[in-house]
Amino acid sequence: MLMPATENEAAGIIRAHAESGTALHLAGSGTRSGFGNAPLAETRLSSRCLSGIAAYNPAEMVMTARAGTPISEIEAALAENGQSMAFEPPDHRGVMGTSGEPTIGGACATNASGPRRFTAGALRDHLLGVRFVNGHGEVVKAGGKVMKNVTGLDLVKLMTGSLGTLGLLTEVTFKVLPAPKNAVTIVLSGLEDEIAMRAMAAAMALSVEVSGAAHLPESVRGRFIDGRLPQGAATVLRLEGLEASVTVRGEKLSKAMGAFAPVQVLDAAATSRLWRQIADVHPYADGTERPLWRVSMAPSEAWKLVAGLRLSAGVDAFYDWQGGLVWMRMEDDPAADTLRQGIRALGGGHATLLRAPEAVRATIPAMEPLSAAVTLLSERVRAKFDPRGIFNPGLMTQGART
Ligand SMILES: Cc1cc2nc3c(=O)[nH]c(=O)nc-3n(C[C@H](O)[C@H](O)[C@H](O)COP(=O)(O)OP(=O)(O)OC[C@H]3O[C@@H](n4cnc5c(N)ncnc54)[C@H](O)[C@@H]3O)c2cc1C
Repeated sequence: MLMPATENEAAGIIRAHAESGTALHLAGSGTRSGFGNAPLAETRLSSRCLSGIAAYNPAEMVMTARAGTPISEIEAALAENGQSMAFEPPDHRGVMGTSGEPTIGGACATNASGPRRFTAGALRDHLLGVRFVNGHGEVVKAGGKVMKNVTGLDLVKLMTGSLGTLGLLTEVTFKVLPAPKNAVTIVLSGLEDEIAMRAMAAAMALSVEVSGAAHLPESVRGRFIDGRLPQGAATVLRLEGLEASVTVRGEKLSKAMGAFAPVQVLDAAATSRLWRQIADVHPYADGTERPLWRVSMAPSEAWKLVAGLRLSAGVDAFYDWQGGLVWMRMEDDPAADTLRQGIRALGGGHATLLRAPEAVRATIPAMEPLSAAVTLLSERVRAKFDPRGIFNPGLMTQGART
């Protein structure tokens, strides 16, 4: 494993690999390293030693950190000043079966965003700037140095979620926000998936600023907060803000939701744990390799997909509705074709296979297959950033490798 201590050293390593055409598997500390298809690269290049907060002025609500900085270090520095990352980056160690410290670079490379996404935006919406090393071994600063032939592209947005296929992130600058002073969760008990979707839509249409909405069917309910959620499926709605405001909004929301189901309220401590566990996909952090899918589609259609799959495949699922995601764990067969056809039939979206036994992953494209036009565009962009194709080859583009 190569672990450069400076950006210049990283650039030198990448230049040398570009010259020899030797592929590199880019990583932070590898906690999300199972994302995508397995890269066809022997050597791992880690940003872990490019670590530390480079600039943070709480009054400006902006932080600059080197890519290898642990998320925990950033969260601690922000907490000292009553601030937080509003995109609440999930910790994927549990579901991916990895160890080590999640880094801010890895979070940016995967656009790791939590259940507050609908109101606060995804990680990429909070990112203001990046520095990275491209496949020529050049250090690029978004907004600073303009790359030949790719002017007009928003490099910050492009790098976020590109899973290390365009360059090695070395430093990121992002917005932070005041941490909410108080939070509660309204729990509706016993709703079927379809009615739960209607209840969540009704809650979000109210002027109470719901900042998290999820539906946890009976099959997963007991795996959250040590089984402390009331019996039956739990539909959970989060409110955050100042103490008095949360109380008033909570009363209004509870009253409206009472038309759907019996309502209970969780306090701030339970709320914090519950939403952390929803973000981290806690029910499926089960130490198994059972196929795990991350599905992004119109939330209003998602229950139909799950209901259809239940008829033909062994599937367990829960809905992070405001995060725009359905998390699905298959009993054994990853059911890729059935799943992807089902999503297309319901208006489209995408399914990413996050976890499966290695033999299965080798035969199923982990990423949603792209249209011919998007593939062409994607290849052109990649050719500009990484002309020798040395960054994570195969990770996004690899099809079934039978
Ligand atoms: C409240 C809410 C309502 C929504 N309503 C709708 C709706 O009505 N209709 C609808 O279709 N969707 C809807 N969505 C889903 C939303 O539009 C999707 O989340 C979005 O289209 C996908 O973008 P993303 O930022 O989530 O992608 P990411 O999370 O960044 O990535 C999505 C997938 O693409 C992969 N990926 C990322 N970057 C690249 C790349 N450079 N090359 C190849 N693959 C890449 C990722 O690994 C991942 O698998 C809704 C979401 C929310 C939160």
